[in-house]
Amino acid sequence: MKPLARTAAHMPGSGIREIVHLALTMPDVIRLEVGEPNFPTPIHIVEAAYQAANAGFTKYGPSGGLQTLRELLAGRVSRVNGYPVTAAQVNISVGGVQGILAALSALLDPGDEVLIPDPAWPNYEMAILLREAVPVHYPLYIEHGFVPQTEHIESLITPRTKLMIINSPSNPTGAVFPRETIESLVALAQRHDLYLLSDEVYDELVFEGEHVSPALYDAERTIGIYAFSKNYAMTGWRVGYVVANEEVSRVITKIQEPMISCVASPIQKAAEAALTGPQDCIGEMRDSYRERRDAVVELLKEEGYYVYTPAGAFYIMVDISDAGVDSRQFALNLLEQCRVAVAPGTAFGKLGDHFVRISLATEKGLLLEGLRRLCEFVKSEAKRR
Ligand code: PLP
Repeated sequence: MKPLARTAAHMPGSGIREIVHLALTMPDVIRLEVGEPNFPTPIHIVEAAYQAANAGFTKYGPSGGLQTLRELLAGRVSRVNGYPVTAAQVNISVGGVQGILAALSALLDPGDEVLIPDPAWPNYEMAILLREAVPVHYPLYIEHGFVPQTEHIESLITPRTKLMIINSPSNPTGAVFPRETIESLVALAQRHDLYLLSDEVYDELVFEGEHVSPALYDAERTIGIYAFSKNYAMTGWRVGYVVANEEVSRVITKIQEPMISCVASPIQKAAEAALTGPQDCIGEMRDSYRERRDAVVELLKEEGYYVYTPAGAFYIMVDISDAGVDSRQFALNLLEQCRVAVAPGTAFGKLGDHFVRISLATEKGLLLEGLRRLCEFVKSEAKRR
């Protein structure tokens, strides 16, 4: 047999999924590794999909998405993210994941360099490698609250650099970048003529401060990635959208055809209902995450950990270096011995190695119990050394 495609065969798998798959094979595991709301999708959204399917709205749609949904989203971005957008600038995607792949496919040639955070959500690296482009990691340090330092990034730019990915509110750190940071990143992109891919799938999950879209300062070079998954507890529905200038947007619409044809028609109707229905669900879920965040930070402080306070999304990175093993081995041992699943920091990059990521999107009692077990485990491992 001839070999498989080099890029796909050599692409590393997700280090989060490794723990997920193992956790699924064990009984009574406290699941703190997955980044998905523990809330059900609001019922009016479910009803809308059902009604659409029941009424026969089950055919192919346009590859860029339903015009009605694109228009609603143009309005939503103008209202929530604060920059003017037309329906033609919006493409509906299969979650934020596929929106990113479509955007990278529109922008990258093999060998192009892409600046990505370390630690970062692992899918960026996987998608870049699939495009035969080159990920270049810029560091995010806990001492800086996991906020990028422009001068670090600038030193990594070469003539092959085409795109910089930024993600605020961030997975895995929960950092929310201040306005000055966003302004400085946009200025950097302008100085070096880079595209900016701004992953804003957690844009409504901000506890303190404000979410700032870089497109406020330069909509021409920014590609915004958005999704219904986190804001509306719709992870399994697989619906998101990409906002870009009209030229990039036209290419993405073309790409959607061979990639997905279109997002499932009843799902797009559910997305419309999410936008037009009551919005209180977002605030209610956000309040729960904030309350859990506070409880987790307090517990970690009591246990003597160096703690920062994530200002958004629903994650916190916990330093487990006292345990004396790399974070993947730590996550495997913790799962095996304490029945707690966490995402190893190594899944997010080299700088993640001393950390594990805890998802706050878990019921509070379980979350705190899982964390107590984790702290005990770190202590007992530290004693053994
Ligand atoms: N971007 C970030 C930073 C994420 O954490 C995720 C999901 O975990 C996504 C994008 C993709 O979201 P979706 O489920 O809508 O594909």
